[in-house]
Amino acid sequence: MDFSSKVRDIIDFPKPGIVFKDITPLLQDPCAFQTAIDMIADRHVSEKIDAIVAVESRGFIIGSALAYKLGCSLVVARKAGKLPYENIGVKYMLEYGEDELQIHVDALLPGQKVLIADDLLATGGTIEATAKLVEKLGANVVEAVFLIELLGLGGRSRIADVPCFSLMQFS
Ligand code: IMP
Repeated sequence: MDFSSKVRDIIDFPKPGIVFKDITPLLQDPCAFQTAIDMIADRHVSEKIDAIVAVESRGFIIGSALAYKLGCSLVVARKAGKLPYENIGVKYMLEYGEDELQIHVDALLPGQKVLIADDLLATGGTIEATAKLVEKLGANVVEAVFLIELLGLGGRSRIADVPCFSLMQFS
């Protein structure tokens, strides 16, 4: 399936100079969304995945569908201040300033096998922080999965110790 026709470029969003990859056309196409989730999930049907760690916010969409499909837990990694229970955090650098992702302290058990899910891999900062959260809880990242990978931003090499899979690649 040609997923790339289901992603549109939004010029100057969310600010001037940014070309935003919009996945909503893919989500609106039942066949494309279902096929995308199946293709990612099928990579992991032969091993027991304990949990999907889904990254706020579009990662929640991908991650929850994967958790349902694989029959495993869904864990959310959220921006600072959003989680209600005791949590740990990891800060990471943005182009301007820094951000923080947090996870509940009881979200994962040591030794559990985890997939991290997000919509898009760019510089890799978000996934690097998420992988650190998983490691802090003693769980193991089997793979980080994405709908889209933006090549040339160094994301994959930044997280060289985390196996990555992306359904679509754009330059
Ligand atoms: P990174 O940390 O630089 O790899 O950026 C990835 C994060 O930014 C992901 O959580 C994405 O949801 C978000 N992101 C960055 N660029 C885009 C885009 O063009 N479309 C959708 N999400 C994006």
